[in-house]
Amino acid sequence: MAKKTVADIDAKGKKVLMRCDFNVPLDENCNITSDDRIVKALPTIKSILERGGALILMSHLGRPKGQRNEKMSLAPVAKRLSELLGKDVVFADDCIGPETKAKAQALKAADCMLLENLRFHKEETIKDKAAKEDEQLRRAKDDFAKELADLADIYVDDAFGTAHRDNTSMYTVPAVMEGKPRVIGFLIEKELKFLGQALSEPKRPFVAILGGAKVSDKIGVIENLIDKVDRILIGGAMAYTFYKAEGRTIGNSLCEDDFLDKATELVKQAKDAECEMVFPVDTIVAQKLKPNAGNKVVTGDIEPDWQGVDIGPESRKLFAEKLNSAKTIVWNGPMGVFEIPPFDEGTKTVAMAVAEATDKGAQSIIGGGDSASAVQKLGLEDKISHISTGGGASLEFLEGKKFVCLEILDEK
Ligand code: AMP
Repeated sequence: MAKKTVADIDAKGKKVLMRCDFNVPLDENCNITSDDRIVKALPTIKSILERGGALILMSHLGRPKGQRNEKMSLAPVAKRLSELLGKDVVFADDCIGPETKAKAQALKAADCMLLENLRFHKEETIKDKAAKEDEQLRRAKDDFAKELADLADIYVDDAFGTAHRDNTSMYTVPAVMEGKPRVIGFLIEKELKFLGQALSEPKRPFVAILGGAKVSDKIGVIENLIDKVDRILIGGAMAYTFYKAEGRTIGNSLCEDDFLDKATELVKQAKDAECEMVFPVDTIVAQKLKPNAGNKVVTGDIEPDWQGVDIGPESRKLFAEKLNSAKTIVWNGPMGVFEIPPFDEGTKTVAMAVAEATDKGAQSIIGGGDSASAVQKLGLEDKISHISTGGGASLEFLEGKKFVCLEILDEK
């Protein structure tokens, strides 16, 4: 069933507590280097303010581990948000406490306030499991949640990047607010629409592209997708674990020896499900991971001292062909060490092939993280149907995991 969204609430004259993902990148002087996450939250923020809600925003930034740390303050976010909205944003120096409560109470219709980093309090990241087993932790988590919940009449969750976690502001706060409206924002609505539709009613052929460093991180996704997609393209360092499992020599390439049996099993599972698994047919190998390091193309075994760093030219052609007819595409993980040119060629080719397929009518979804940065670097964002704002969250969604912090919110 679909979740209620901010469009379903009457915000007028109400205090609205909204969880955002303002975990923005900062440079050493605490300047924001990309305001993308703030910009993406604007539709929900503006919608509430325009309808006369008084908005209290909360987020985490970095990993301050329960301690105040000025380098991870959300103050620069309040400043940037104020510029983007063209109005003052009140900044509360702490996310809880009497001063914050007084500031929240003083908010009028269409006022906007941002609370300081939730993770300055260790209670934000106490795991539910730990809280269930330890009475003291449970009470600490509940008290923290109650202080936040008491600030508002309505709860909105628009932090997809954290949706796979059970952080207190994501799960315990809406739990405490039972009986009050608890809804999703437009950003999460869009994420659920694209990711949900891809999994439940994909147009075919449905092609998944998986890359990145580790097979172990993607086993769950491969297992869940095998029955759903027509084809899985495997690139990145992950491919070498599959190569080795086949008995090939892989030199110094990254490999997870503990997962060789699993790799063999996944290939068999795919075969049984008639899901085509496509592996690179050639590899770029290098002796050093340095820009413009000497490299060559190999088609068979990789010699000792050489490391696979990207898919080769024939594989790029093959992967582009396999994407050409796709009608639904999900992509997670780069095809090589794309941070170090020229080992970004495979990732670039795949990004362009995904953009071309999209141009021909495919629904394309990029699961955040490195593949999203590759697409952004190439200026292809507008040619992709949906770039997820949550790398980890979209991966868990594709694994078929349930998100408890969304399940608890109101159904339509
Ligand atoms: P992940 O977070 O699992 O998606 O992995 C992303 C990382 O995988 C990036 O930092 C890439 O540099 C790395 N990666 C991709 N292909 C390779 C490769 N052939 N060898 C080493 N690292 C790789």
